[in-house]
Amino acid sequence: MPDLTDLTLVDALQALRRGDISSRQLTRAFLERIDSLEPSLHAFITLTPEKALAQADEADHRLRLWRGDPDQPLPPLLGLPIAVKDVLCVADVRCTCGSRILENFIPPFNATAVERLLRAGVVILGKTNTDEFAMGSSTENSAYQVTHNPWDLERVPGGSSGGSAAAVAAHMAPVALGTDTGGSVRQPASYCGVTGIKPTYGRVSRYGLVAYGSSLDSVGVLGRTAADVAVVFTLMAGHDPLDSTTMDIPVAEIALNGTENLTNLRVGVPEEYFIQGIQPEVESAVREAIHTLESLGAKVEPVSLPHTEYALPVYYLIAPAEASANLARYDGIRYGPRVPAKAMWDIFRQTRGAKFGAEVKRRIMLGTYALSAGYYDAYYGQAQKVRTLIKGDFEAAFKGVDVIAAPVAPTTAFRIGEHSDDPLAMYLEDVFTLPANLAGVPGLAFPVGFDSRGLPVGMQLMGPHFREEVLFRAAHAYQRVTTWHERKPEGL
Ligand code: GLN
Repeated sequence: MPDLTDLTLVDALQALRRGDISSRQLTRAFLERIDSLEPSLHAFITLTPEKALAQADEADHRLRLWRGDPDQPLPPLLGLPIAVKDVLCVADVRCTCGSRILENFIPPFNATAVERLLRAGVVILGKTNTDEFAMGSSTENSAYQVTHNPWDLERVPGGSSGGSAAAVAAHMAPVALGTDTGGSVRQPASYCGVTGIKPTYGRVSRYGLVAYGSSLDSVGVLGRTAADVAVVFTLMAGHDPLDSTTMDIPVAEIALNGTENLTNLRVGVPEEYFIQGIQPEVESAVREAIHTLESLGAKVEPVSLPHTEYALPVYYLIAPAEASANLARYDGIRYGPRVPAKAMWDIFRQTRGAKFGAEVKRRIMLGTYALSAGYYDAYYGQAQKVRTLIKGDFEAAFKGVDVIAAPVAPTTAFRIGEHSDDPLAMYLEDVFTLPANLAGVPGLAFPVGFDSRGLPVGMQLMGPHFREEVLFRAAHAYQRVTTWHERKPEGL
């Protein structure tokens, strides 16, 4: 039998329905691959094999009933294993957020995104590694372990959804959930050679996602193909009464039937994203991919996003400001472990001092400073004004084009430890992903080549609010005529 972990989501679902394989077989295949690769990759913080096999057996039972009565509706993902980033609550499974301050937090409820997928029939393999509270671009800021890039074990997988990206790239799961506040789905997808969607802000409920930057956070999906990612995205998306920022806009079914033609697609290329310092092989792979879109019928034209250079300082004021407020709740009283002390303030101080990592403390200090009386207008207030200009850039550009094509990150995956002593160098990896979060627009990253070291290069397509399906159609058309997304890291 072929290796079941090589099946795409779309193919696995078909095989399950036909009865060619059982969910137990499929789940076991992924659990076994996780067992053999985890010692070198460290993609998971928590594994839930017993729960997964119980869910798989339940799915097999329902599949058998359905085969006896195929007119019954079948949950669309019945029996499909997935992995979940450890910042999304799964009921009764520890949720650490990569932090010691939540090392024993067991949520009693599911995040809405997780709940919807469970209702659709998924099997949850475990919780994937993340930078602490999703703050980082390399997954090195996890308090538990460093995840290694399956294409080169000495390199980072990107972050903060690095565990999810590495798991998908190494075929430890067909798809995985991630979150993207400033690039954390797209950048690790790019570094690991997989496909990842950062949806429009307000498209997928944030209920049960542990908050980092509430005006920026979005729940996304990583998978091996645009078609696979689209299926999961569609099932998670939509209005949720538990998150008042979700919009009541119908989620279009994304029918990728293989006959996509891009004749009516206008692709904008922003010169602000091809800056000095970008790795030449990244630039050439992305420009080549834009030519491929053109050869599929798309019309390519330059666009300008003139405030792009301000995205980095604006983001690194707004995100830490929101984080400093969101993380105030971890005080040693309400969640997680407590460092005992006589006075309440000492409990707060000592618990937070001992259990938060260095990057989280840096952000809390930055954010508290930016919000403090006397500085608020100069920093936070000013950043909000410039954010509006960045959003305006996208609105103006989308008057003339349907999507914007750009690199995901200026470089391919860097070496573990390379940026550890230089937070600014780490923040620079985010220059191309932050604008979409500040503007709230969707972005889809997918592989468009490899550099001379054999490391994947990603391109992102950004689109107008709530137009994810346009991104998926373009990426699917691209993946029909290219094979980058079919490559698998060797030697694992
Ligand atoms: N790297 C960015 C940060 O550190 C983005 C992280 C994210 O998207 N969660 O904030």
